Amino acid sequence: MNLIERIDHWAVVAPEAIAHISDGRTLTYWELRSRSNALACYLTQRFGDDRRPIAVLGHREPEMLVAFLGSVKSGRPYVPLDTALPQQRIDKILATSRAALVLTPKDILEFSALQVCSPAAAVRGDEPFYILFTSGSTGEPKGVIITLACLEHFIAWMLAEQRFTELGEVFLNQAPFSFDLSVMDLYCCLATAGSLFSISRDLLENPKKLYRALASSGVTTWVSTPSFAQMCLVEERFSEAMLPRVRRFLFCGETLAPQTAAQLLKRFPRAEVWNTYGPTEATVATTSIRIDAGIVERYSPLPVGRPMPGSEIFIVNGNREVLAANQRGEIIITGPNVSPGYLARPDLTANAFFQHAGHRAYRTGDFGRFRDDVLFFEGRMDEQIKVTGYRIELGDVEANLRALPTVRDAVVLPVTKKGAAQSLAAFVLLAERHETSDFNVAHKLRTQLGERLPAYMLPRKFVFLDAFPMTANGKVDRASLAKSL
Ligand code: AMP
Repeated sequence: MNLIERIDHWAVVAPEAIAHISDGRTLTYWELRSRSNALACYLTQRFGDDRRPIAVLGHREPEMLVAFLGSVKSGRPYVPLDTALPQQRIDKILATSRAALVLTPKDILEFSALQVCSPAAAVRGDEPFYILFTSGSTGEPKGVIITLACLEHFIAWMLAEQRFTELGEVFLNQAPFSFDLSVMDLYCCLATAGSLFSISRDLLENPKKLYRALASSGVTTWVSTPSFAQMCLVEERFSEAMLPRVRRFLFCGETLAPQTAAQLLKRFPRAEVWNTYGPTEATVATTSIRIDAGIVERYSPLPVGRPMPGSEIFIVNGNREVLAANQRGEIIITGPNVSPGYLARPDLTANAFFQHAGHRAYRTGDFGRFRDDVLFFEGRMDEQIKVTGYRIELGDVEANLRALPTVRDAVVLPVTKKGAAQSLAAFVLLAERHETSDFNVAHKLRTQLGERLPAYMLPRKFVFLDAFPMTANGKVDRASLAKSL
């Protein structure tokens, strides 16, 4: 059975089991299979041999799951998009992906109610399963192609390592489906007939409601960014008493602080805490390690673990020579979980991907080293950063700022606290300035930028300059700008 068949077979074994709960709405495994089959048939009838991707635009509605499976069952990859994205960003993604169709929850309801049939031409092995767009340094989002084989390699590892109880888990879904962290909860859940419990924007904006929802969720497997758990820990009641069934916390996407792990271990004495590491380009995560009290005591920062079976990680220097243990260099990932590349961007693909011993390999741009046989993440080599788990290319924000009519040039830097980026600051040279306060100018730029970029990419602070400080070799002196923050 491949992953799609495995998900489908739960509709026979446990048709009434709940696959998804979101905003009080539920979807059973039977509904998931029959509706995704119907949608697949609709797509096949409408598009025939045209296998362009299907964009799915929503916000954690059960229909999104129907559309993901409906697309792949019709042999088309899907492009998950969250409604939090501004229209201009969505348009760029649609143009790059050449999506045949944009499906909203309303469309999905309509098209998945049309017929009962068995689709025949589902995505196979090396065919694209989903395409996930991430920040690109030139201001254009780039689409990472993930095949069914990539996803299956990742999920098989997760299932073997975590030994989820079939028909017994409730997975927390914190990340929007447009971020690859959600792939961890979504497909581990569907592969084991668990229930996916989505936290909607409404809950995120209202802590009281959030804790009430968590308390009644029955979550057994917590999947989130470390930032989200850190935020929850601020509430003292966030403990085993609130979530008595939690057995594991799975983290990925950004640095897990030892304090966060220590607090979780204390407040949830019966749960395990896992740190996993990896980029979207290698299907969610490639390494993992269980963080117990001994590890917290021994290491700061915490390790990110060992690679999954069948995949390898090595560290290289600037000449791309493999380094020995304890030496710091770039983290290279190789194995069946590595993406074939970026959609329609052979230039970017050639820069970041290569072949190694018969497998695809990816240059992560992350610094790291092996110590005591485990991998440690040691920061970025470039200007990609993470703010509360969101991946941002500073160049992306800069390019979009420069595209505004009143901006002549812009440099964007992270504002850091205890080594972690908290927000963004923009240093701006204006092309023209009408007599108005800095506050008003900043407000206007932020609003205009908000039409181009998602909210998490908007600088909180704006500094207006007449010229940038320069280094001796004539480049913008980013270090001295950073010092001024
Ligand atoms: P994304 O593609 O959004 O998953 O971002 C991938 C990047 O996030 C990696 O290249 C790292 O820079 C960072 N990252 C992922 N997992 C971890 C982790 N466990 N600890 C520290 N950084 C991480």
